Amino acid sequence: MDPSLPGTAQRRVLSAVPAVLVLLVGAIAYIQARNVVADGEKVDRSHAIIETSQALLTRAVDAETGQRAYLLTDEKTFLQPYRGAQADIAHSLDSLRRLVRGEPDESERLNRIEGLVAERFALLDTTIGLRRVAAAATPAVSPSRLLAGKTKMDQLRALISDLQAGEKNVLAQRRLAEQRSVRDASIEVSAAAIIALLLSALINLAFSRALDDRDAANRALRAVNEDLERQSEQLELQAVEMESQAAELEATAEDLRTTNEALNRTTDAAELARVAAVTAQARLQRVLENLPDATSVFDSEWRFTYVNPSASNVLSGLGIDASRVLDKVVWDVIPQLRGTKFHEETLRAARESRVVEYEEYLPELDSWMENSIVPVTDGVMTFSRDITRRKREQQGAQLLDDASRVLASTLDYEKTLETVAKLAVGDLADWCGVDLVNSEGGVRQVVVSHKDEAKIKWAKELNKRYPPDYAGPTGVGNVIRTGRPEIYPEITEAMLIAGARDSDHLAIMHELQIKSALVVPMIARGRTLGALTLISTDKGRRYGESDLALAMELATRAAIAIDNAQLYRSALAASEAKSAFLATMSHELRTPLNAIIGYQSLLTEGIGGSLNQSQLAQLARIRVSADHLLGLIDEVLTFSRVDAGMEVVRRDEIQLAPIVKEALTMVGPLAEARGMRLKNETTDAQLLTDSGKVRQILLNLLSNAIKFSDNGEIVVRSRVNGDSVAVSIVDPGIGIGVENLEKIFEPFWQVEQRSTRRVGGTGLGLSVSRRLARLLGGDVSVESRVDEGSTFTLTLPVNRVMN
Ligand code: ADP
Repeated sequence: MDPSLPGTAQRRVLSAVPAVLVLLVGAIAYIQARNVVADGEKVDRSHAIIETSQALLTRAVDAETGQRAYLLTDEKTFLQPYRGAQADIAHSLDSLRRLVRGEPDESERLNRIEGLVAERFALLDTTIGLRRVAAAATPAVSPSRLLAGKTKMDQLRALISDLQAGEKNVLAQRRLAEQRSVRDASIEVSAAAIIALLLSALINLAFSRALDDRDAANRALRAVNEDLERQSEQLELQAVEMESQAAELEATAEDLRTTNEALNRTTDAAELARVAAVTAQARLQRVLENLPDATSVFDSEWRFTYVNPSASNVLSGLGIDASRVLDKVVWDVIPQLRGTKFHEETLRAARESRVVEYEEYLPELDSWMENSIVPVTDGVMTFSRDITRRKREQQGAQLLDDASRVLASTLDYEKTLETVAKLAVGDLADWCGVDLVNSEGGVRQVVVSHKDEAKIKWAKELNKRYPPDYAGPTGVGNVIRTGRPEIYPEITEAMLIAGARDSDHLAIMHELQIKSALVVPMIARGRTLGALTLISTDKGRRYGESDLALAMELATRAAIAIDNAQLYRSALAASEAKSAFLATMSHELRTPLNAIIGYQSLLTEGIGGSLNQSQLAQLARIRVSADHLLGLIDEVLTFSRVDAGMEVVRRDEIQLAPIVKEALTMVGPLAEARGMRLKNETTDAQLLTDSGKVRQILLNLLSNAIKFSDNGEIVVRSRVNGDSVAVSIVDPGIGIGVENLEKIFEPFWQVEQRSTRRVGGTGLGLSVSRRLARLLGGDVSVESRVDEGSTFTLTLPVNRVMN
């Protein structure tokens, strides 16, 4: 807006000024005119008083004059004015009274005039009355009465004259005042008119300036308007565009309305949901209160906002009053948490906004905790569950599992015990020792293991410098003697002092920080083989019943392993002795047997002289038995060679068919003797193998098939299967029970007891056959059913298959 142009309010005020001035002048003129009019009225009243009083005097004089004329002439016509005069005078007096109302002096004067008029008329009446009565006789009028009448009239005249003089005086003053007020009014009106003119001129000037300004402003305004018009055109264009947008908006609004309705419906649903949520929250609160997990809620500044009773218990375990932790920062309340896994993981859960779960061992509480950290709005919730028991059970089971595996892996039990001791050191103990009873009945520490390798030296030195008193009333010796474990949940300083031999001993024990201990016997098959000692130091656990049970189990498993190893060692020694014996014996038997066979041949050939038929038949029986015996000895020899790992394989390229045929030919007589038929369905195959061993295996299987069948047919068939060939011997014999199918391959094992057997044998045939087959890279297997027959199959690797 142009600043030179007066504002609308100002303009209104300024344009009203001349009008106000004109009004002022008019008002002054009006007041003055009213004053003049009022003065005029007063002049008129004075004139009226003068005229009325003059009329009153005139009527009084007329009446007197008439009365006088009547008195002189006795002519009643002269009484005419007199009669009318009294009423006119009364009338004039009334008028005068009205005119002088409010002016006491004048009123008083009128009263007096009225009194004089009344007295004068009374005199006149009396005189006229007397005249009528004495009309004829005497002159009716005395001079005194006339004089009195004259006096009254003079007084009346004087009074009226005074009255009129007063009014005339008033009139004169009024005129002066009137002139003054007319002059004053004209001066005031002129002055007001001049001021109004001046002001109007000034305002006009101001207005004209303002108008100039306004014109300039108007021009600017016009320019602006033109601009605006252009803009307006553009705006119109935009408006059109906006209209289309508005249409779009309308559509959107429609959508919004629909959405809004949907939202309203949703709001109703939300209200229901809110009620449900409140119920759920109450339920959640109850659940949290009863949750065995220690549950805490922290805000984004890590202040406690909720702690459930379980969490309160954990806090009091740390010596913290849970009722005072709310609104306090967890890291200030439990400073030892800083830098722990809990610290790291809670920060991570909050940072990555995801649930984090982990397990942690808290040495202060000697407890395992399973922690879940759940980010919530503005903070995190933590659930901590004490899983010590489960964890210890798991660790125990794992330890037993690992120990069993280690113990079963080797028969070198001293090494094994060391591994087991190392396993025990860790979760279960800080250090572990094993003492074993030796063959002389003495006790010896065989293993000592410590978490800290450096401390093993200390422990060994302790053992060397201060050998344990195995004869003492407690400790390893006592446990081995009695077979009963000893448990020391808390080893006190007093106990250490009592057990120390001297101050150095005590110092070493202090160095080892022994705090809790377990000594358990290692028992197997009723014999106590030694004792297992577990020791826990400062930061480790305090042993309880569950640890004792675990240690007992571990010790028992170790004892069984030691026992097995010891048994195995003896068995191995016995087996070696047996193999050596068998080899020597068979060799020693073979030599004389060969001599027997040789001499039998000489005799049969008649070298020593001719023999009759009976002698020849007896020699033939000797030969059969000798051959059988030789076969048995060969079998035993082969077994002892294979068993000792001394059997040698000689591989040649051979054909399968001829070997099968050869074996069948060899067992032919035996089959015939038992009334059995032999059938060969073999397909040929080329093998790179030891033909002698293949033949020996086939002979064993064929002779068993014949031995364990009464009649019928024995079939030999072969089947090539990928890179192996299977030769099966199918018999219709007695069969083998499923429970014995594997046992028959063990050396010296036979299905029936020797005493009840129908057929002879060593019980080595199948064992030797399988071992030989395996030496050749194949195997011998069996399928059989009792009373239905058996199928023994020899599989061998092939080089090339031939039809
Ligand atoms: P043996 O010298 O007793 O034959 P083997 O090792 O050859 O020793 O056989 C072990 C046992 O297996 C036999 O004693 C017999 O009980 C059983 N057996 C072997 N072959 C057969 C078969 N073909 N039919 C039934 N039983 C058999």
